[in-house]
Amino acid sequence: MDDRKPNIIDDLIAMLGEKAVLRKADDTKSYLSDWHNRFHGAAHAVVLPVSTAQVSEIMAYAKKHNIVVVPQGGNTGFMGGATPDKSGNTILLSLRRMNKVRDCDAKNMSMTVEAGCILQNLQDVAENEGLYFPLNLAAKGSCTIGGNLGTNAGGLNVVRYGTARALTLGLEVVLMGGEILDMLSGLRKDNTGYDLKDLFIGSEGTLGIITAATMRLFPIPVSVSTAFAEVRDVDAAVELLQKVQAASGGMVEAFELIPADIMHVLFESFPDIQLPLAKIGDMNVLMEIGSTNPADNEPDGNGSAPIQNIMESVLANAFEEGLVIDATIANSDAQRDALWEVRESAPESHKRAGKVVRSDVALTQSALAPFYADMVAGIKAIDSNIRICGYGHIGDGNLHFNLVQAAGGDPEFDAKTPKLLELIYSKVTKYGGSISAEHGIGQAKRDQLVEVKSPAIINTMKAIKAALDPKNLMNPGKVI
Ligand SMILES: Cc1cc2nc3c(=O)[nH]c(=O)nc-3n(C[C@H](O)[C@H](O)[C@H](O)COP(=O)(O)OP(=O)(O)OC[C@H]3O[C@@H](n4cnc5c(N)ncnc54)[C@H](O)[C@@H]3O)c2cc1C
Repeated sequence: MDDRKPNIIDDLIAMLGEKAVLRKADDTKSYLSDWHNRFHGAAHAVVLPVSTAQVSEIMAYAKKHNIVVVPQGGNTGFMGGATPDKSGNTILLSLRRMNKVRDCDAKNMSMTVEAGCILQNLQDVAENEGLYFPLNLAAKGSCTIGGNLGTNAGGLNVVRYGTARALTLGLEVVLMGGEILDMLSGLRKDNTGYDLKDLFIGSEGTLGIITAATMRLFPIPVSVSTAFAEVRDVDAAVELLQKVQAASGGMVEAFELIPADIMHVLFESFPDIQLPLAKIGDMNVLMEIGSTNPADNEPDGNGSAPIQNIMESVLANAFEEGLVIDATIANSDAQRDALWEVRESAPESHKRAGKVVRSDVALTQSALAPFYADMVAGIKAIDSNIRICGYGHIGDGNLHFNLVQAAGGDPEFDAKTPKLLELIYSKVTKYGGSISAEHGIGQAKRDQLVEVKSPAIINTMKAIKAALDPKNLMNPGKVI
């Protein structure tokens, strides 16, 4: 056995080359804190391997010398999962340079890509092949497919296509110690034993490093209709979703809830964003349906395309029934982009609004409206000036229930935070929901996880972790 203390930096440079090992504070700074600037850590170095073989070498070295490894993609995660602790005994392994598309099999409607590929680039690659990769989030210009799989990302189109997990056919993973699990495959059916890939998806880098994945592709929804509607309340939004699903034959691509406070907070930071309707309604939805048939986009005798007719008739009926108060349908790509800008700028506006209590909850469709009403009553009892930004992917039961401090700031907000968090978690439990719909656990919700999961479930998770990473070197302090 070699007992000499390793010279970690020299060894990493020997493995990866000088340029792939960042040490200077200026170079490593952006990797060592998270998107919200809430979590800060330290590392021996940030390393940027270019191949699975290099990742394997780093992992073998880390295990041998008891060094922690924290994987990172685009560093857009919300839970501090990609930020190391402050000890400094960490190699921060950024996958950003592993960004090759290994194969795009148009016939099989799948592509095999490296973990560091930026989500937006994968959408573009699919489109160039005449296909569609439906994973879509506002961070698509900087998040990576490895991070998307690490967190089992959701985003805007889950209502139709499912989460990142549902889009995955195969995976390549490097374990702590360097062993490579080649589970890359374009098969849609494969019942040969335990489905190990599902264990790594959503494990937030605590079980192994995802180095590549085979992802499903779809036909492009070439005919699209997008509408913004003021609805009576959350219950009406849920009813409207069912109506539009039924009328379109399940073509709902996205269905997002947008309460008034989302727009009030938004316009503080982005005053030039176009108001979708004449006035800001209390509760609104942004919805999109999509068909893969180009004929659905061809104007009929009245000058209106079939896809628009579906949207118009759903909205007209919902208006008659009192579910919808006002609505607009985009008539051009520019109008569609303007409607989406309202939704997609919300996370950035919350970042700029200063103090925010954030949550990412999932509920059944039947529990959404009572949960929402209960939350509003509870928040108002704590402080009626808090901006209630319970918004997001209501089509799949996911709300980002963010509570933003009063306009102009609130020096007492920190003191109210524990009460607000307690309110959120107690209501999620009451309505049988989840405390993390799509953002994961990271270090931010680790303590809450043990509160909401049974000891049997936590112990099973710990047993899996111990089996794959007995020295607890894979992104420790995250998830469990
Ligand atoms: C503006 C904005 C909007 C967002 N909207 C959404 C949304 O709608 N839906 C949603 O789900 N999320 C959303 N997010 C959160 C974030 O973008 C996602 O969690 C995304 O999947 C993270 O990808 P990343 O490459 O940035 O991962 P990182 O932040 O780098 O890492 C996230 C986690 O995955 C692990 N990880 C990263 N790469 C790997 C790998 N190769 N192997 C194993 N583990 C790995 C990390 O250790 C960490 O635990 C949003 C973020 C922003 C900034």
